[in-house]
This record gives sequence, C-alpha cells and structure tokens, in this order.
Amino acid sequence: EKVYLNGEIKDAHDAKISVFDRGFIFGDGIYEVIANINGRLFYYDAHLDRLKDGLKKINIEFDTSSLPKAIDALISASNLKGQDYMLYIQITRGVAPRKHAYPETAIPTVMMFAFPKTLPDNNEVNAQVITRNDFRWSRCDIKMTSLLGNVMLNDEAKQHDCYETIMHRNGVFTEGSHCNLFFVKNGTVFTHPADEFILNGITRIAVLELCKSLNIEVKETPIKTTDLLNVDEAFLTGTTVQIASIQQIDDHILYTENKKGSVTKKLQEAFLKLKYTVTPL
Ligand code: PLP
Repeated sequence: EKVYLNGEIKDAHDAKISVFDRGFIFGDGIYEVIANINGRLFYYDAHLDRLKDGLKKINIEFDTSSLPKAIDALISASNLKGQDYMLYIQITRGVAPRKHAYPETAIPTVMMFAFPKTLPDNNEVNAQVITRNDFRWSRCDIKMTSLLGNVMLNDEAKQHDCYETIMHRNGVFTEGSHCNLFFVKNGTVFTHPADEFILNGITRIAVLELCKSLNIEVKETPIKTTDLLNVDEAFLTGTTVQIASIQQIDDHILYTENKKGSVTKKLQEAFLKLKYTVTPL
C-alpha cells in the first residue's frame, strides 16, 4: 500500500510522521474522503471547496493547487488507474512543540492514501438506527480529524447491532455519526440546515440538487424528536453510505423487510444515474 506524505510517495510502512505532529497530539487537522467512480472523482470540486473552507476556518495555510498532481501520482503508484477507489486526504497543522495556540511556524502535514472500492449500484442497506444525544462540540461544520465523539456514537450503534446512531441536539435531529440525515413527510424532504451543528455532506448537496431537478419539495428545517412518529420516510446520505433507507429508529418501525419509501427510492435511482454522469475532473 502506498501513501502520499508531504510531496513523496512511500510504502505505507515507511510513511512516518513525528509524534509531535499536531494532528496526533490535538487532532488539529481536517480530512476528506472522495469516491472515484467510473474514472472520476465524484464531486471533486465540491470536496475541494469544503477542504479549502475547512483550512480557512482553522487557519491552516496550504495551497491546494498542488493536489491534483499529487493525487495522480498516488493513484499511479497505487496501481489504481482505471479502477474505482476511495481517496483519503488529511491535512494537519504540522509539527510543533506541544502548546495549544497555533504555532507561528509550522508546515502542514499532507497525507493521502487510496484503496480499491466499488460502491454498490443498488443500495441495499435497510438501516436500523439508534438515537442519542448529540454531545459533540458546536463546530460540526468542520470536517476535523478529531472524531472521538463520532467514533463513540458509532460504536454504540455497533453494540446494538445497528447501522448508525442518529443524533439530536436541543430537541431536533442533526445527523448521523458518519452521514447526514433526511426525513420525508407528505412528499416533502426535510434535513437539518447546513449550519455549525452538522457537516455539510457532499452527498447531501448532491441529493438536494436531485430533489430540485425532480421537483421534490425540500425544507432545510430540522425534524423535532417529538415529530418522529409523524414522518413517512427517513434516509442517510454519505460518500460511502450513498443513500441508505432507514427501516427502524429505536423501536419505531418505518418499513419492514426490503420495503422503502417512494421518495427514498426515487432519489436512490436518480443518484445512481448521477454517479455515472457527473462531469469529470
Ligand atoms: N456527517 C458526518 C459527521 C460525516 O462524517 C460525513 C462523512 O464522513 C457526512 C456527514 C457525509 O458527508 P459526505 O457526503 O461528504 O461524505
């Protein structure tokens, strides 16, 4: 397995970073996960925009214009040309003596790897999810590498043999531990607005665009936990999740067996088409 690290392609076991890297010490960094589908990085520009936005929000100076060339070198070295794969990009603030304040001189650590992965065409997930209090911080819009809250919440889902934990804060649903959350009520799609309490998922953006082109009404308004029994459908979106229908939320069963809601189904079908028609990088 090959790794891109600060301008060089290395074997994974030779790719080493300092224990004083602020990514390791503080989780002081951001990341992206991008799917390469049918020869293209899906919504690359949107991922790049989010990456740049994240760097700006946390004050890391890094010129992303070098990335396409670096990605190309990594993909060639990894023998992934012409294959479907997942690309992981991480940028941390770099190496500095352990002090909380941003160091004045630190060079960002840039690390990337990719592995072969073909996402299934027909999303067969019928997810059972649990609900938990969203105890994460209030800057969930930053795709930071400190994912302890998400990791803890996701593990709880696993302990309950569930696919995901969906979270609520101040009485409204926010998102999942590694995906965004949508509801459907009387044909209208509801999702939490892209503020500081959720990550603005690229798949979320793509799904909102699909709703528009399919004339499905959308409200970027969160669903209250007390409204859960009144929703008709629920689904999750994310790069690896794509669009996953939710079957059951705690004890509340929305659908049984392989059944799913008509809006969820329509969006899954449209998403499948989109995967093969997005503009190449
Ligand atoms: N929300 C959280 C907390 C996530 O970690 C992710 C993806 O990892 C998402 C939402 C979905 O984002 P995307 O569609 O860009 O993969």
